[in-house]
Amino acid sequence: MRDLKILTLLIVICYNLNAQNNNSENNIYAIKNINIIPMTKENKVIENATVLIKENKIYAINKQIPENAKIIDGIDKWLIPGLIDMHVHTLADGSPFVIYPTKGPLVSFNTQYNMTPYIANGVTTVFELGARTEHFGQRNEIIRGDVIGPRMALAKIIGGKKSNPIAKNPADGRNAVRFAKEEGYEFIKVYTWLNEETFKAVIDEAEKQNMKVIGHIPVAFKGKEAKDFFIPHFSLIAHAEELSKQTDDYSYKKAQEFARLAKKNETWLIPNLINMVSISNQAKSLENIKSSFGFEYVHPLMQSKWLTANKFEGSSTETINGFQKQTNFHTLLVKAFKEAGVPILAGTDSGISGIIWGFSIHDELRLLTEAGLSNEEVLASATRLAANWLKIDDKIGTIETGKFADLVLLEENPLVNINNTRKISGVFINGNWIDRSKIDVMLSEVEQWNNENKKEYNWKELLNNLKN
Ligand SMILES: [Zn+2]
Repeated sequence: MRDLKILTLLIVICYNLNAQNNNSENNIYAIKNINIIPMTKENKVIENATVLIKENKIYAINKQIPENAKIIDGIDKWLIPGLIDMHVHTLADGSPFVIYPTKGPLVSFNTQYNMTPYIANGVTTVFELGARTEHFGQRNEIIRGDVIGPRMALAKIIGGKKSNPIAKNPADGRNAVRFAKEEGYEFIKVYTWLNEETFKAVIDEAEKQNMKVIGHIPVAFKGKEAKDFFIPHFSLIAHAEELSKQTDDYSYKKAQEFARLAKKNETWLIPNLINMVSISNQAKSLENIKSSFGFEYVHPLMQSKWLTANKFEGSSTETINGFQKQTNFHTLLVKAFKEAGVPILAGTDSGISGIIWGFSIHDELRLLTEAGLSNEEVLASATRLAANWLKIDDKIGTIETGKFADLVLLEENPLVNINNTRKISGVFINGNWIDRSKIDVMLSEVEQWNNENKKEYNWKELLNNLKN
């Protein structure tokens, strides 16, 4: 029995995409009279249904409610699968100054406070695109049940400079991939500064190691033909900006060319529209950051950085116009990729200046509808399709019996208006029920801590101390 338990634990950890241990063993929840938006391919809405949740799984739909079940009233409410943000940078100890954990953290973060904004916004899985050793630690805290947080998929960056590891030639690139695999990373993120040969070698080696590759398109390809970087197993573009950086031709025809090549190469796209929209807004005025949803939950060090050391502040009109042109082209890319039948995934780049963990997913979903996706397509981009790319669609991403209970209870129907994804009345994460009042308590703890500690965190001072 004990061996079995250890074995189970190993399987759980090896699978590596787990949210926390379920604290509510033997708990059965019944959500009554709920309208289910299952987000399966057919996505047939099941009205006025009962969903039973036992331990961390969806146990049954429309079956008799056991006597000991805790009842959640779902009347006039809507249930969607937990949201997946496919592009995040979660704060972790030491971040963002040191990439070598052995040098010790200069700044430490409270993992729960880092995770609360995700949970409060219905984000139950995140794809960490700058994963470091510390993120494994965070994930362990979540798995242990010490922290309520999302499932974390971790991608290791391999770059040509300013990264760890640095890979300057194909042999180094291949070694870096093999080492990342040994360390337990599930995915590889190729980065901007790789040279052409190393980019290709990293992707080829990742395929050999059974690791999917997401990433940037290196600047080394700028001005070259797009078919040069759409190579087999480069399977996800981290933001539309990667394509707009490759060309000065912002026509629909160009967008279609990228889309055609992506389709042929089976490369999916995270448009990450909020990124450029936010950059434009910041370039116009930093007041736009302060008024973003959720700014009060941003760690004071980041508040300080975004407001006092913001590289977009004071941009010229010409630069701002350039951002606007890029933004428009990103919209065209979404249209062209949709037209070509390339799957589109929702990702925010949370953690870069102005983009707030958890809260920003709703901005991204809205922008994707404005770019021409239907509300249902947008929801798929943050649920089923994202789970599919991560190869965990047998476990999460839809509401079906046997899947993990990662669910968001909404006050209103998001198929009618995508902004309704913000109207959250409760979240199930791995079978743990966090109702609205608990969410509010968790958020206010973060806000209070931020306010009380604001004075301690000054970005510029910290940089100066580092230099001395
Ligand atoms: Zn990023």
